[in-house]
Amino acid sequence: MSTTATEGARSATPAGSGSHPSPTTQIEIKRIEPETPLVDIMAGASRHEVRVHDHGFVALVDVMPRLVPEGSTADLAIVQAARVSYGAGTKRVSEDRGLIRYLLRHRHTTPFEMVEFKFHCAMPIFVARQWIRHRTANVNEYSARYSIMPDRFYRPTVDGVRAQSQTNKQGGDELIDVGAAEDFLAYLDEAESLYGKYTNLIERGVTRELSRVGLPASLYTEWYWKCDLHNTLRFLSLRMDAHAQLEIQDYARAMCALIEPLVPVTVEAFRDYEMNATRLTQLEIEAIRTGSKDIHTTNKREQAEWQAKRKSLGLDGVGAGALRE
Ligand SMILES: Cc1cc2nc3c(=O)[nH]c(=O)nc-3n(C[C@H](O)[C@H](O)[C@H](O)COP(=O)(O)OP(=O)(O)OC[C@H]3O[C@@H](n4cnc5c(N)ncnc54)[C@H](O)[C@@H]3O)c2cc1C
Repeated sequence: MSTTATEGARSATPAGSGSHPSPTTQIEIKRIEPETPLVDIMAGASRHEVRVHDHGFVALVDVMPRLVPEGSTADLAIVQAARVSYGAGTKRVSEDRGLIRYLLRHRHTTPFEMVEFKFHCAMPIFVARQWIRHRTANVNEYSARYSIMPDRFYRPTVDGVRAQSQTNKQGGDELIDVGAAEDFLAYLDEAESLYGKYTNLIERGVTRELSRVGLPASLYTEWYWKCDLHNTLRFLSLRMDAHAQLEIQDYARAMCALIEPLVPVTVEAFRDYEMNATRLTQLEIEAIRTGSKDIHTTNKREQAEWQAKRKSLGLDGVGAGALRE
């Protein structure tokens, strides 16, 4: 079947010059049927949603490609794009899974940009502030200038209140005594009570854009967040990491769970080569080569990082020289 359309845009070249068609030339659009039947990888759903904390969620609302041949996943778009750039040669080198793993291992990133996800998410403002730093996504956020913010606040349970870590200035993982945890929740109560003042000031005519500025960072916001797979993996790698704040880790894990069934081969490779892998510095390689427990630096942080890596590599307790045996 074929259809035709009239070109509406003005031509950059004068009508009739050279071999360019005139602006009124009819352009033929051919409809090509797929070789095998296509299926919707979201199974016809309007969204796939994971609830996070008390009021948050990550919902996958769309994906490209959404229609794939029966039995395939969106991983197919990566293979398809790679084969355009590398030609038929890649077919001989590896089958699809091997190709995806090769591309990820060797940071051939652009084929992973051929897959895109659109999420609808709700998160506290302090999580959104970290999330928005990932600049390669396209974002549209709820406008507190235009609309009244809903009465939704993040609050952990008493058990979820963490003590400041002694080793990591940016985080905490130890438990705190119950008294301090309860005081923390009382402090959140006070902050949440400002919501009444916020709505009262709006009723009395203060602009929404000003009334909101006294609301706490525990208030929920929401947005649409669209990102390609390559940059989504970068987001996941940074935000599922143990160094990220626990609250954003929960959102990143929800996102990973949502994309995994759609790009299973890529997520498996991502876990193998990124999340569960360790990068070694030149000094660390030298220490392994020489069987030394320590690296040649006076930088205490670098030394501590090496000791943590030794532990995760199972080298803890291995004495000097033993590695060479
Ligand atoms: C554990 C942790 C702690 C952090 N602590 C702090 C902190 O204390 N203070 C703070 O300010 N931030 C902090 N950040 C944020 C961090 O510095 C990054 O801004 C954030 O992780 C986004 O990373 P990105 O820039 O690689 O991601 P994206 O913005 O998604 O960019 C992805 C990649 O695209 C490229 N890119 C994107 N935009 C540009 C550009 N304009 N020019 C050139 N290249 C570009 C870069 O290669 C970049 O790596 C922290 C992040 C983490 C995970």
